[in-house]
Amino acid sequence: MKEMTCRQLGGACDEIFRANSFDEMAALSKKHGVEMFEKSDMPHLDAMNKMRAMMHEAGAMEKWMEEKKALFDSLPEIQV
Ligand SMILES: [Zn+2]
Repeated sequence: MKEMTCRQLGGACDEIFRANSFDEMAALSKKHGVEMFEKSDMPHLDAMNKMRAMMHEAGAMEKWMEEKKALFDSLPEIQV
């Protein structure tokens, strides 16, 4: 089990997600993003706009995902 914050995953707050795999982590972050989007939370909307802008750049999104996955892999396992 590893921990990452919303901010570490390109978000805008310090909410902590715990997951066993990067895919699971990405799914939690995405779910949280949708919740924040529904609340019209400005910092998260800004973060999402930046992500969307990146998607127009060829390869940028893949590079970003790779970086986040490397970050996830480098984190220590936590005991729950
Ligand atoms: Zn957040």
